[in-house]
Amino acid sequence: MSLKRIYSFGGGRAEGGPGLRERLGGKGAGLVEMTRIGLPVPPGFVITTDTCALYLKSGSAALRRTLGRDLAGAVKRLERVAGRRFGDAADPLLVSVRSGAARSMPGMMETILNLGLNDRSVLGLAARSGNRRFAFDAYRRFLCAYGSVVLGLPRPPLEQPLEEVKQRLRTKRDTDVPARDMEEICRRLHAEIRETAGRPVPQDPERQLWEAIEAVFRSWMAEKSVTYRRVERITGLEGTAVNVVQMVFGNLGETSGTGVCFTRDPNTGVRTLYGDVLMNAQGEDVVAGVRTPMTLGGMKSRMPTVYRQLDRVRGLLERHYRDMQDLEFTIESSRLYMLQCRTGKRSSHAAFRIARDLAAEGLITRREAVARVGTGDIERLFYPVIDPEVPRRDLETRRLASGIGAVPGAAVGEVVLSAQEAETAARAGRPVILVRRETSPEDVAGMHVAQGILTATGGKTSHAAVVARGWGKTCVVGCETLSIEPDGGAIRLGERVIRKGERLTLDGTEGVVYEGSIPLVRPDLPEAYHEVMAWADGLRRLGVRANVDTPYDARKAIEMGAQGIGLCRTEHMFFDSADRRMAIREMILADDAETRERALARLLPFQRQDFEGIFEAMRGRPVTIRLIDPPLHEFLPQDPEEQRRLAARLRVPAETVARRVAMLHETNPMLGHRGCRLSLGYPEILEMQVRAIVEAAAAVKRRGVKVEPEIMHPLVMDPKEYALLAERTRTVAERVLKEQGLRIAYRVGTMIEVPRAALLAGPIGRLADFFSFGTNDLTQMTMALSRDDSGRFLPDYVDDRRLGILKEDPFQSLDQEGVGQLILWAIERGRAAHPGLKIGICGEHGGDPDSVRFCHRAGMDYVSCSPYRLPIARLAAAQAALAEVRPARGRAAASHRARKPAGNGRIRRRVTRRQRGRRHPVAQA
Ligand code: PEP
Ligand code: MG
Repeated sequence: MSLKRIYSFGGGRAEGGPGLRERLGGKGAGLVEMTRIGLPVPPGFVITTDTCALYLKSGSAALRRTLGRDLAGAVKRLERVAGRRFGDAADPLLVSVRSGAARSMPGMMETILNLGLNDRSVLGLAARSGNRRFAFDAYRRFLCAYGSVVLGLPRPPLEQPLEEVKQRLRTKRDTDVPARDMEEICRRLHAEIRETAGRPVPQDPERQLWEAIEAVFRSWMAEKSVTYRRVERITGLEGTAVNVVQMVFGNLGETSGTGVCFTRDPNTGVRTLYGDVLMNAQGEDVVAGVRTPMTLGGMKSRMPTVYRQLDRVRGLLERHYRDMQDLEFTIESSRLYMLQCRTGKRSSHAAFRIARDLAAEGLITRREAVARVGTGDIERLFYPVIDPEVPRRDLETRRLASGIGAVPGAAVGEVVLSAQEAETAARAGRPVILVRRETSPEDVAGMHVAQGILTATGGKTSHAAVVARGWGKTCVVGCETLSIEPDGGAIRLGERVIRKGERLTLDGTEGVVYEGSIPLVRPDLPEAYHEVMAWADGLRRLGVRANVDTPYDARKAIEMGAQGIGLCRTEHMFFDSADRRMAIREMILADDAETRERALARLLPFQRQDFEGIFEAMRGRPVTIRLIDPPLHEFLPQDPEEQRRLAARLRVPAETVARRVAMLHETNPMLGHRGCRLSLGYPEILEMQVRAIVEAAAAVKRRGVKVEPEIMHPLVMDPKEYALLAERTRTVAERVLKEQGLRIAYRVGTMIEVPRAALLAGPIGRLADFFSFGTNDLTQMTMALSRDDSGRFLPDYVDDRRLGILKEDPFQSLDQEGVGQLILWAIERGRAAHPGLKIGICGEHGGDPDSVRFCHRAGMDYVSCSPYRLPIARLAAAQAALAEVRPARGRAAASHRARKPAGNGRIRRRVTRRQRGRRHPVAQA
């Protein structure tokens, strides 16, 4: 049997059934479904999306061969149901021809109204309706649409005749244009089209229909449609369907009109009919804004019966689709017709409220409510954004440059070019945008006080991006047209020079830099957010932790739902104040162990104090503290002037500092003397850091607050290396505990961020209490892509109009095909060697929804990410749990027990008890 390519509806019957959305498109499926449930829908038919694919592949002749008989049959059936004939001179059947893909692509493809009109039937329409103006207005619209959509003519010359008449009549309203002028406009359009297209609009309705169908199919490949699909990541669709529907007229007079509405307010989510209706108008007028429409409230008092009908339709459709719908309708002489229904797009606020309310109304379950909100909705809830009231035009005129949007949101501030300037301005209460070629740990204090950060280089996991994300600070990186003027007094963005102190606005969502201050708004969190997130927390199995380095951020993390800290980067603490900077520099410049130990002794109280604050804030939740990671040269000033100042402060010759900087220089610092190699090379550093951690834990425990420290080594690549580190760590920890006269359970573990460590996860896992995947470095080293420099070419790898080699930026969304395989291997080997091995991830991917889903499937215990991304991780983890087929209870419980964390017995027992106590356990992070 040949493939059914046309589905008819109307006259109380509808072909096809639910589940045909891919083939009928959203609009077609909606029309069929609305007919089926008895709503007033004009009759018509849908030509399937696969027919579009056939046409695009094989062309017009093949289409006509394949579809000819079916189309003729569908038209006949429509004529029968409508009681009118196509091309009839006295009472013609007129149709609309509209596109409609399986995924909504608003405004991207084409519509032709009033098809079937010609020079004869327009007179019939005038006679039958008793309204000549209406008939020629309909013809005018048809000719315009045909000229532009089918014949490809530019739109403005086709709109010109009407504009000229309106000017002559000194009116802005189409409805003031009388019949004779409309007729004249139609004559002019005929002439214009014949001249520019080289052929007239066909008079034969059947030919009109074929050509219109082909034009709609072609619009699938129009540049704007292709771009929209790329931007929205719409893939895997065959083409657009074509909807051919009998015309109903909203432009028949003052009891007719056309409208669009949502079944709930798409901005707030409140349950009310929300929309506009334009009387005496056809569909396109509402969108074109030719007249000010009436609100539905206005319609309620003017046409109460129609309003009641629409309200009834709303209830029926929401119950049927169990979601908020976006509707198009026409009122023809006080009769309501439904022309479209689809799932309505909504703001982030509305997304939460609608999900919560639909669950409360019993239309969906709480599980479905959790599945309904998107992780993108959450992201948008938290960040200040450019005020949507600012006209797009204004934005365009102020646009200076673009780069990579590393942290979304928006920020306004004056340009500063160094961390010191940022601190000075911030102390004076002035908001700043810190602009750097790239940032380094030296800049963190300035970054901390800045509103936003802009760098010329770097990608989404560059230092600037990682640090900014941790603080939820707007950040644009890889802005290639940015340079800093040699005198350090200004920046250049392309041709424009911006002096220090002038203001910029950064849009980190779009990655755009604007001149001057643009108003921002910060939306309040909707109440429904907290409810839906609580439901999500009840569903997820994956724990969530935060990457934070300060007590303040730790408290913030708890507010955002953190169940622990998965990564505390201790090196960030070395830059918090001038004293700390000085101590670490003195330590690095030390020539002998004794001087080094003296400098470290000055750092110890700072670290202990930070750790105490963090343990206290986390109140018994696990805290993973990573020992020093970056290469030491990053802690020393590179600028000769600053080197001289440092030498003076330390009372050493300037050459000593310069020499040490030169000695520490590495061609490839990311693969050099960093990570645990520092702890091995300078055992005093390990000693100081472990001592600070354990002393802090002891002090907090003495205050009656529970502590759960986890000490983590970065950049491990070998079991022997790890054995040495673990042994030294435990030796120091036990010594300190003995001094303190306390017992505290602690874990020692390692990051898995070097491919070799992943490959050797068995022997390393046997010795470790936990693994934490550092997927920033693991991606960098597995793919040989520099985190800091690949921004120059990586976008081409991801852009399918250029190389299109990778689906996503692998620093943003985990490369599951490659890096992911190493992770799976390491988890399998690690757990085989050590069944209780606790496993998490602390690279930036821990806050990326797709990567979180991967971590869930891989059986990790937790993900860790910056506090501002925690809600995203919580929701993605819940959705991952919802997406999987739930195993039988017994099996699920058994597999869960098999993964219980190890470490010391006390922790193990406690976790196991908690896990057993829950029906759907939230994983212990
Ligand atoms: C990582 O490499 O994934 C990681 C978390 O460490 P960092 O970003 O500090 O190198
Ligand atoms: Mg790392």
